[in-house]
Amino acid sequence: MANEKRAVFIIFGGSGDLAHRKLYPALYNLYKTGDLKEHFAVIGTARRPWSDDYYRSTVVESLKDIDDDEKMMEEFAKHFFYQSHDVTDSDHYIALKQLAAKLDDQFDTGSNRVYYMAIAPRFFGTVAEHINSEGLKTNGFNRLVIEKPFGRSFDSACELNSSLTKTFSEEEIYRMDHYLGKFMVQQFTNIRLNNPQLEKALNNQYVSNVQVTLSESLGVEDRGGYYETAGVLRDMIQNHIMQIIGAVAMDKPAKLDSDSIHEVKRDVFDSLKVLQPDEVDRDFVRGQYDEDATGKLKAYRDEDNVDPKSNIETFAAGKIMLENSRWDNVPFYVRSGKRMPVKSSRIDIVFNDKIKELGLNPNTTVIFLIEPENGSSILVNGIDYKEANQDFISFPEDPHFFDNEREAYENLMIDILDGNKIHFTLWNELQNAWKYVDVIRNQWDNETPDFPNYMSKTMGPDAAAELLERDGNSWVWDD
Ligand code: NAP
Repeated sequence: MANEKRAVFIIFGGSGDLAHRKLYPALYNLYKTGDLKEHFAVIGTARRPWSDDYYRSTVVESLKDIDDDEKMMEEFAKHFFYQSHDVTDSDHYIALKQLAAKLDDQFDTGSNRVYYMAIAPRFFGTVAEHINSEGLKTNGFNRLVIEKPFGRSFDSACELNSSLTKTFSEEEIYRMDHYLGKFMVQQFTNIRLNNPQLEKALNNQYVSNVQVTLSESLGVEDRGGYYETAGVLRDMIQNHIMQIIGAVAMDKPAKLDSDSIHEVKRDVFDSLKVLQPDEVDRDFVRGQYDEDATGKLKAYRDEDNVDPKSNIETFAAGKIMLENSRWDNVPFYVRSGKRMPVKSSRIDIVFNDKIKELGLNPNTTVIFLIEPENGSSILVNGIDYKEANQDFISFPEDPHFFDNEREAYENLMIDILDGNKIHFTLWNELQNAWKYVDVIRNQWDNETPDFPNYMSKTMGPDAAAELLERDGNSWVWDD
């Protein structure tokens, strides 16, 4: 039985893509499960002059792909209200405050507030400051949710953070990284801790190397403008890949609560071996996609809103090292790219031959498939864990375990409402990730790459394979 939550959500950018594609469907699914019932309301804000009715019709439209229960969708939409609002106009916050207070009473929400920034990052500071100056915060909980990008560098992330922390404490800020909402990423810690053998094996005695791959088969589609300012280093490696490394490499936490988990994660981020500028070309490889073999798919430089001479990378692979006693000398190979053969997110843990001491065959690989498999799974040397060595790795016996898999945004919305920060990025983690990535970005910005250098629908430039071959290793997943 779901535990009903209470809150008024104020969604800045309520008419936008993120709100309609991710937030409304996630809230609806929580409504269907009873996590949200009577005691919630949503205020969508944006500049365009929509009526409540029109806004509700767009909310219902955004649910059409996930459900056909019109009655339930209409009931759900009655909790939605629209406030035309320019985030730079102080007067508009007064109207917003009055509406939110009215809805607190009407829906008996306990004055809990979730302020969701589904808006361009340049407005985050302005909104946070107005929430403070116009007195929107209440006696209930006040949680601010922001989406990536959290800055473009260490310095800009510091600037952004200080503009937010004038109004919201670190405890009240929820930095959303939707990879941390994915079922298999969330389960990784539980699986580790419920498997003493696996936990015993996760260190430099038994692990040869760890590989994290987040590949996408699509190109930039209609997001060329955004991508030109980001590239895969900022878009995927600085956040999602770093957070996955944190989950794999962290020590066993004292408890399974947010403070304990972030404490051990913090140690991982503190131990990142930041490269010297002259080491970047040795340990990192970048690429940009060309057409595919048939010429049907465009090269990156021919995409809409992309500079025809762009040097932005759509692929990167690298070797990340941690300086701590648990992981010294174990490479964490990472890669992410667009226009690779298929979409796949996976963690491959390659053990050395000492692993036989713990009952596994030498050179075994344990593979955690994060997506797109529905009901993600664990493979040991390519064989489903159930048929593989169950002494080494076991998983809940419940055959319906994966049936309860929720979508990432649903998991994270529940966490926000519960005040559970386990799966959100903390400021100290973010700072270290930026310090690591800034060196690579600066080095790359000072050199002209030979782009394009990989054909669409391939595994990236040859140099990505050579990076591992130099160490006597190879990518486990190779199309
Ligand atoms: P979008 O579709 O362009 O939506 C932007 C929203 O902001 C619109 O509702 C727009 O409505 C509103 N807006 C713009 N200027 C405003 C102003 N001065 N005052 C009030 N409202 C204003 O963008 P999006 O794709 O949803 O992205 C929103 C944020 O989420 C960005 O930070 C993006 O980086 C992040 N994000 C998005 C995705 C995604 O899947 N879309 C994924 C990860 C992160 P009006 O024009 O009517 O004002």
